[in-house]
Amino acid sequence: MRILIVEDEVHLAEALAQILRKHHYSVDAVHDGQSGLDNALSGIYDLLLLDIMLPEMDGIQILRQLREQGVRTPVIMLTAKGDTDDKIAGLDYGADDYIAKPFVTGELLARIRAALRRKGDAVVPEDGLRFADLELNMSTLKLSCKGKELKLILKESELLELLISRRQAVTSKEQIIEKLWGFDSDAEHNNVEVYISFLRKKLTFLNAGARISTIRGVGYVLEAAE
Ligand code: CA
Repeated sequence: MRILIVEDEVHLAEALAQILRKHHYSVDAVHDGQSGLDNALSGIYDLLLLDIMLPEMDGIQILRQLREQGVRTPVIMLTAKGDTDDKIAGLDYGADDYIAKPFVTGELLARIRAALRRKGDAVVPEDGLRFADLELNMSTLKLSCKGKELKLILKESELLELLISRRQAVTSKEQIIEKLWGFDSDAEHNNVEVYISFLRKKLTFLNAGARISTIRGVGYVLEAAE
């Protein structure tokens, strides 16, 4: 699960990032509104923690633009204590939840889990992602197909999760790198090719009714086999 923090108080953003990493989330943090919007529009995040008062563009404007452009990523607004107008505006523009600063870590983690669960409810039946005859369980990392089952490593399962969630749209190597390794990583196209080839071998082993096709110069797409 990858979370984007948009918060201009750098210390708070860093502290938050550390807490979330300790709880096994992948985290990116940015400190102004424009970077927040640009990053969030990439669509690689599973959840956004969005401060309201930000330089360049405030959290409400970011949220509004995201929803207008069809980005449905769950958003938890970070509000100043007692600022009811901000909460109402946030919820009106499609925020999933809000939490007042300063907050208790346990409460924030619970709200994150709840928002991710709600997101999961909409698209992930019984904790599994499905495509053709494949079923991927992201908690156990098990990929099953027609009664056969094997375990994926984390990066393979994140890659397959991404390809399934793209719903047969082409996914570029850049998008895969951002999702699996994050914006600041040194990961290269080779890394993507390696994991694509691992995953293809496993699909072949399972005799799956789905395959990963290469669209030359563009990226990859998961397709149902004929
Ligand atoms: Ca702020």
